[in-house]
Amino acid sequence: MSVKLDLSDAANWVCADCQVALIIKKVDVSYLGSSFPVDMPVCPQCGLVFVPEALALGKMAEVEKTLEDK
Ligand SMILES: [Zn+2]
Repeated sequence: MSVKLDLSDAANWVCADCQVALIIKKVDVSYLGSSFPVDMPVCPQCGLVFVPEALALGKMAEVEKTLEDK
């Protein structure tokens, strides 16, 4: 299963440390005891994963719902 996030902003995101544009990469996210791949903005230089605010705040509720529906 995979989770679709709105990453339309991600093209403009830059790593604050490296000053390089972030790339979208599948990252395994662990949540509620489940692990699933999510497309996340990642810095190609330092590997830092940027968690969009929407994901941190609201979207996880949707993910939780999706998992429960399964
Ligand atoms: Zn970086």
